[in-house]
Amino acid sequence: MKVSGSNLLRVLNCAPSAWLPQPNRLIAAAVRGTHGHAYCQGRRDGLEHDAAMKARGIPEKYDAMMRSLPESLWNTGGTSEVAFAYNWREDTARVLGGDLQRQYDKAGLKRSSELPGTIDVAAVHKEARMGAVEDLKFITEQSRWRYPPPLRNPQMLFAALCMLLSVPELSAVEMKLVLVVMSDEDEYERTLILTGEVTLMDLAPFREALQATMADVWNKRGEYMEGPWCDECPAYCSCEHQVGLLRATLDTPPATGMFVVTPEQVAQALPRLLAAEKALEVAINAAKKLSDQEPIPLGGDRFYGPVPEDKRTVKAELAERYFAEKYPELLPAVQTEKKVTQESLKEVFSTLPQPARDRVGGGSKTSWVKNFMVELDAAGLVSVKTIHKHRQYTDKERAALLAAPPAEPPAANEEG
Ligand code: SF4
Repeated sequence: MKVSGSNLLRVLNCAPSAWLPQPNRLIAAAVRGTHGHAYCQGRRDGLEHDAAMKARGIPEKYDAMMRSLPESLWNTGGTSEVAFAYNWREDTARVLGGDLQRQYDKAGLKRSSELPGTIDVAAVHKEARMGAVEDLKFITEQSRWRYPPPLRNPQMLFAALCMLLSVPELSAVEMKLVLVVMSDEDEYERTLILTGEVTLMDLAPFREALQATMADVWNKRGEYMEGPWCDECPAYCSCEHQVGLLRATLDTPPATGMFVVTPEQVAQALPRLLAAEKALEVAINAAKKLSDQEPIPLGGDRFYGPVPEDKRTVKAELAERYFAEKYPELLPAVQTEKKVTQESLKEVFSTLPQPARDRVGGGSKTSWVKNFMVELDAAGLVSVKTIHKHRQYTDKERAALLAAPPAEPPAANEEG
């Protein structure tokens, strides 16, 4: 059973995901987040960049990512890395320790009744009878749905509950969720801060749900609930629902119940696998077509439908002249097939020595290319085409889409 405050969003939705076998599955985003946290922790401890990298064992390949982080991420008050334990049988909580590096068992966690969780920063303001908890998450735009605002965020509610139960003189807890948005290339883009405040009374429904779910987990029962959290579920390969899909496709069910197939099974099942792939494609296309008429509500604050996106293309011939006159060091970005892409610009930027980078605008690779595209746009070197990609989006994004000027309907071949 591997449940902690940080995976409560999935576990509260699908209790079996906590008690099914969980083969080790390291996810890149999780690795990045772990190193990001460790680095900020090192900086909070007063270490300079190099010392923090070394002390926290952060691989060299994350050097640029850590350098791009703003200081505000570690200039916070309070105690860092506070671990709590919530006793779901007795509805009590205690502070388990500081900077435990998730080694809860060594700190005396009672697995049969206690649920652990760590919050990045915690503070108690006794005179004001207020507590404060703060958590830092390294995310990408695509993974944002996993981090709802504090009042709907199980990890934040868990930390607030533990603090209110372990320091009874507090009347409320302020929650602050700091979302550090990274690009797909692990470069810092922006910080979003979401806040909320709760009292013990506000937390009554959450406590009830937590106790019921933990009883289900302990007794190995509960309903399977598929949802976006399945993508990174550690029990995915042993999940009845997911394995059922594979069973329905393979002639011989996988003996272990896991996603392990033998060459013989592949030989037998390949025609059906390909047919299933085709059927999925047809079904997804039908869903896209339906959503073209009206966005499809997915429950909660999520929708599925076409989302307009501006595709920017640099006019290569004009750019070549512009670069030759103004930025000759960027000429290699005009590729042999006379194309300039954001990728080719980034590639050339990465090869430039620091003074040349500063001359063309400086900054991180991602922020530079963004700013440089604005410059090229202003110089009339960019053509813009709106395409539509079908994807999931939130209510808030939908409001922004509705407020935007109407876009051309999606062309049949413009799919994401
Ligand atoms: S894959 Fe989804 S449905 Fe299956 S156990 Fe995990 S969260 Fe539950």
